[in-house]
Amino acid sequence: MHVDAVVVGAGIVGASCAFFLAQEGLKVALVERGGIASGTSGSGEGNILVSDKEPGAELALAQQGCLVWKRLASILPDDFEFEEKGGVVVAETDEHLHALTRRTSALGGAGVTAHLLTSSELRELEPHLAHDLAGAAYFPQDAQVQPMLACAALVKHARQHGALLLDYTEVIAVERDKQGAICGMLTSKGPITTPRLINAAGPWSSQISALVGLDLPIQPRKGHVVVTEPLPRLVLHKVFEASYSETVNTSDTIPQVASVVEGTKSGTILLGSSRQLVGFDSTIEVPVVQAIVRRAVRYFPILAHAHALRTYVGFRPFAPDHLPVIGEEPDVPGYYINTGHEGAGIGLGPISGKLLSQLILGQALDMDLAPFLPTRFQKGGVRS
Ligand SMILES: Cc1cc2nc3c(=O)[nH]c(=O)nc-3n(C[C@H](O)[C@H](O)[C@H](O)COP(=O)(O)OP(=O)(O)OC[C@H]3O[C@@H](n4cnc5c(N)ncnc54)[C@H](O)[C@@H]3O)c2cc1C
Repeated sequence: MHVDAVVVGAGIVGASCAFFLAQEGLKVALVERGGIASGTSGSGEGNILVSDKEPGAELALAQQGCLVWKRLASILPDDFEFEEKGGVVVAETDEHLHALTRRTSALGGAGVTAHLLTSSELRELEPHLAHDLAGAAYFPQDAQVQPMLACAALVKHARQHGALLLDYTEVIAVERDKQGAICGMLTSKGPITTPRLINAAGPWSSQISALVGLDLPIQPRKGHVVVTEPLPRLVLHKVFEASYSETVNTSDTIPQVASVVEGTKSGTILLGSSRQLVGFDSTIEVPVVQAIVRRAVRYFPILAHAHALRTYVGFRPFAPDHLPVIGEEPDVPGYYINTGHEGAGIGLGPISGKLLSQLILGQALDMDLAPFLPTRFQKGGVRS
């Protein structure tokens, strides 16, 4: 089989790459060792957030990302539960409120719509929140999708534009020509020749880079999610505590827990979130689950009476400098990387796929890729 490009991984990032490349007429093979969204994209939540970012490169990507999601929701006929529901960030103490006030103003300065809420406004937005909170801020641009439905919709439309989905097919070796450029790969179902390999393997992307002969410092960052039984709509927005952004920006191995609570269209409520750098250990850790539930009940006392339906873990693709990795490896022509989106890959996946497609096709880029290029890790990175 010969194709113009092979995308490895049918999570949100790979599905987005395949979608945009196929739409532009490239013959694409999307190679996935499981089913669509069988990796992290099937085990996260579906928030599309600007409110949890710091002003800078990732926020700029997230702002563009919101626009791309909005456009996808308007042009694709599929229902992937896109909802511009807005985010509410709550401060438990006066100290947290001071920090939240500073953040709200900094994000406002970077073009994010945000405002602090009076207690009556907060009560109106989220009637079931605890009454003793120091304050809160509202971010109306935050949105939500159902990630598995979104991946399926993107793959479906990529296939309608000629993309091939090779699911339950694993990439096991990568071939380079005499000049070192990508020329093909071996999969569990046979060889494919291609001049382009796009590594969208999420937390496993360092393994694909190793097949190419490069180091890529992406690690899995474990997270637990508790799912409640279906309930009447008790939580109307994405609600998270002000210290959440701090836990995102640490690199600790010990569990970091900050409350994130959101309702879904099916009535279940998702409770998060935890962060740990412990490799691919998928053990469900009871103390972490207890901490998540305790924090959720602290903010929504009414949840004390809810039953949990299930708990699961997923692995965020984590880069040491907390930024996605998007671009071509100059030492290996034809080798493109699109990974490292950590806890924001659902929000950032489509814009990242669009930007990589523009780069591959030599089109004008929607935004500067400089902060995200893989060359930032290059010192000594090439092994062969
Ligand atoms: C608990 C939790 C909550 C989250 N909540 C949110 C949220 O609310 N909002 C948000 O934006 N993000 C969230 N995230 C993060 C988000 O889920 C990830 O950033 C995103 O799913 C990463 O997508 P991906 O396509 O890069 O990786 P993946 O979805 O993991 O896709 C990579 C794919 O590559 C495949 N693969 C690997 N190796 C091979 C191989 N050799 N051959 C073929 N296929 C291969 C895997 O099977 C996998 O399907 C959350 C994550 C977790 C864990």
